[in-house]
Amino acid sequence: MLPFKLVYSDDYFLPIGSHVFPGEKYKRIHDQLIESHVAEPADFFSPRPATDQDVLLVHTPQYVHKLKTGTLSAREELEMEIPYSPELVRAFWLAAGGSILAADYALNEGIAISIGGGFHHAFPDHGEGFCMLNDIAIAIRCMQRDEKIQRAMTVDCDVHQGNGTAVIFAPSGVPGNRAGMGSAANLHDMARVRRSSSDVFTISLHQENNYPAFKPPSSLDVNLPDGIEDADYLACLGNAMSMGLSRVQPELICYVAGADPYREDQLGGLSLSIAGLKARDTLVFQLAKAQGIPVMVTYAGGYARNIEDTITIHSNTVVAAKEVFGS
Ligand SMILES: [Zn+2]
Repeated sequence: MLPFKLVYSDDYFLPIGSHVFPGEKYKRIHDQLIESHVAEPADFFSPRPATDQDVLLVHTPQYVHKLKTGTLSAREELEMEIPYSPELVRAFWLAAGGSILAADYALNEGIAISIGGGFHHAFPDHGEGFCMLNDIAIAIRCMQRDEKIQRAMTVDCDVHQGNGTAVIFAPSGVPGNRAGMGSAANLHDMARVRRSSSDVFTISLHQENNYPAFKPPSSLDVNLPDGIEDADYLACLGNAMSMGLSRVQPELICYVAGADPYREDQLGGLSLSIAGLKARDTLVFQLAKAQGIPVMVTYAGGYARNIEDTITIHSNTVVAAKEVFGS
């Protein structure tokens, strides 16, 4: 048995047909974890779908109504970049429920991983970039509503900037800022701006020259140059987390473990190796564990030319957690 819980359902499957996003990856990760004896069936716990009340903590009633009645405009569906269907709506409500459950487990046990979720491009009133609902934000808002936490931090390591999450947790009335890589003065300024007014500190480490073209400010954005490799990436990640953790004391870290910073990714332009991505996961887990902060993990993107690599990278996140939290 793993010393923590995995949240998963076969119904995480995204029914989007032939698409660069492999909607079947969740089941393949589940199967690989069992076949490789990293996990056993009893390690997996099935979520229930989020309730509409949960979803409405983040999303607007108008948007939720459109999703439930199939009345998105053609432009809205195009912007989401995945084909609308009632089945897809159910899959996203379930992914949100999975992230809520994983956050709850993480608070009780130190870490939990949902083999799904991480849909960081979803905004309160619309979906974008393969994301319909922002499960990360829904999970955080549910934990706050239920008075399980007050403050959270997102650590978004998908290759694409977490624009939806940044907007959802932007402090109202405080103009944003963006930090260039390695600019300590900027990082310091930004953390100071944000600390006074928000209960969720958002960190996004992403490739600057990539989607989304407009990157609304997170609490801390690390805009990485094309082609960055393992060692430099890990240094940036360590700096960003140290900076964030020196400014806020989160009661929960939501780690978005995208597989797309991988050097063979079709939608990414960074150059991390599979081993480097596992080292990334290990670093996040070690820093969180050292400070006694629970971590909830979601998976976000992964578009390797060979889907086996995406499955391996995501499976390795569980291996890394086992190594850090099992000892
Ligand atoms: Zn991505």
